[in-house]
Amino acid sequence: MVVKEFSTIATVADGEPISDAPDTTVIETKVEPEPIADVVAASISVPVKTPAQQTDQDRYETLSGLPVSLRLIDSIAEYLDQPQSDTACGALLLIDLDHFNSINESLGKAVGNQILERAAETIKGLCTEHMEMDQVAGDSFLVLIKNIADSAEQAREASLAIANEIRCILTRPFFTESGEVSVTSSVGISVLYAGLYYASPEVIISAEQAVQQAESAMFEAKRRGRDNVVLFDSQITRQARQRINMQSSLRKAVANQEFDLHVQPQVSTHSGDVVGGEVLLRWMHSGQAQRSPADFIPVLESSGMIVDVGLWVIRTSCEYLRNMLDQGLWTPDMQMAVNISPKQFHDPQLIKSLEHSLKSYDIRPDMLTLEVTETLLIDDFESVVDKMKKIRNMGTRFAIDDFGSGYSSMIYLKRLPLDILKIDREFITHLNSDKETLGLVEAIMMVAHHYGLDVVAEGVEKREVLDILRSLGCEKYQGAHFSMPVSLDKFQRLLVA
Ligand code: C2E
Ligand code: CA
Ligand code: CA
Repeated sequence: MVVKEFSTIATVADGEPISDAPDTTVIETKVEPEPIADVVAASISVPVKTPAQQTDQDRYETLSGLPVSLRLIDSIAEYLDQPQSDTACGALLLIDLDHFNSINESLGKAVGNQILERAAETIKGLCTEHMEMDQVAGDSFLVLIKNIADSAEQAREASLAIANEIRCILTRPFFTESGEVSVTSSVGISVLYAGLYYASPEVIISAEQAVQQAESAMFEAKRRGRDNVVLFDSQITRQARQRINMQSSLRKAVANQEFDLHVQPQVSTHSGDVVGGEVLLRWMHSGQAQRSPADFIPVLESSGMIVDVGLWVIRTSCEYLRNMLDQGLWTPDMQMAVNISPKQFHDPQLIKSLEHSLKSYDIRPDMLTLEVTETLLIDDFESVVDKMKKIRNMGTRFAIDDFGSGYSSMIYLKRLPLDILKIDREFITHLNSDKETLGLVEAIMMVAHHYGLDVVAEGVEKREVLDILRSLGCEKYQGAHFSMPVSLDKFQRLLVA
């Protein structure tokens, strides 16, 4: 059984709750692209028992569902409430295993439990007498570190070092009954300032807020690609504000229909003919595409607006197809790809709306390909497969998008009703100069073909890359080498050219 892929990194915009967290500072430890979205923290409900009644099972439940032991909450509160004479800095770490649900799904609960046990043991083993650990929500661990340093700066450095050490040690592969497994984790840190009650009111936070901050930072670590450590910071709050601003601009954009759909041609690597396209959303302002969808799609997704916008995308794609069919530019063997984000996929109206759009424009369902990413599969594997099968039975095809950038378990390829695998741009762009990547692409291609999938390479910018892809047996490609996404008009001109 192939089990090694669990250390791969995914880029996911998790849904997350909102808060007005107080200003502090965020430091990231890995050089990552600027995060698209902010983090918005959870608020915490009221404890159900007084400390005198507590047992180890007694827990607070955060709004995001994190059950924190009251014992640990008390320890944090006690630490923060030290007398002023004992000022010191500590830290609260929230360590969350990446993709744990998927591991459980694909490898079974027994292996999942083994992984959890090992993670718990590992973290416990790293705890000194100044540290306290609580296993929250199965695959999350809170660690309180007391008196890590005297100054805030040192506390940041020290807590980052400890967090990274934990992260690295957790990544080490180990053997389970299913073979070798390695898991990554995302760690959020909140620095605690003890005994500063009077000295520095702006840094005073409650135990609940500390958990909230660690959770925010952990979500940010997930968003930055997982396998990451993030220190809670004012930047998070600033990003939260930016996101709220973008959200309100997007609401107006939805109301004012400021969106457009561009199409990127998909080209046969063998004949060089345009054999289809991918529709890509554009947010227009004064006739110009404004921000990249990579920035605003996650905001549409987290706010739920993607559902309506996505339905518009499907309907408009069908309209485009009808237009091209009527002009004789589109033939039945061509396919138009539409991106479907997880929220859209889970929309109970999706199938009905899809059928309605296809019917309204009299489009054969097999002219559409829905592109989904692996992030869709993190939860509810079985129900996702069921829904995919229903849609596929209508005739519409499925492509797995961005393959290689995320969790990328080969096991999924076997179990999912897929037709096409799209290799992520990251692997294609430098294919001609990077031997390691070449090997990887070759392997992905072999497995894809083994499961009967066609392969589409995206981000082909150079002729040399195209030549390699052709020699590897890749069926289709997209990319600047042929054309970047263009307006429908231009796309049609490319079809007649
Ligand atoms: P994606 O699905 O991976 O789309 C491919 C992205 O790569 C597009 O970016 C495209 O412009 C870009 N690209 C294609 N060829 C090249 C190349 O040769 N060089 C370079 N540098 N870039 C290339 P775009 O249009 O900015 O879209 C970004 C992402 O936004 C998409 O990634 C997709 O995840 C999402 N997205 C776009 N439109 C929609 C939509 O209608 N619905 C949903 N749910 N997501 C969308
Ligand atoms: Ca896509
Ligand atoms: Ca892609």
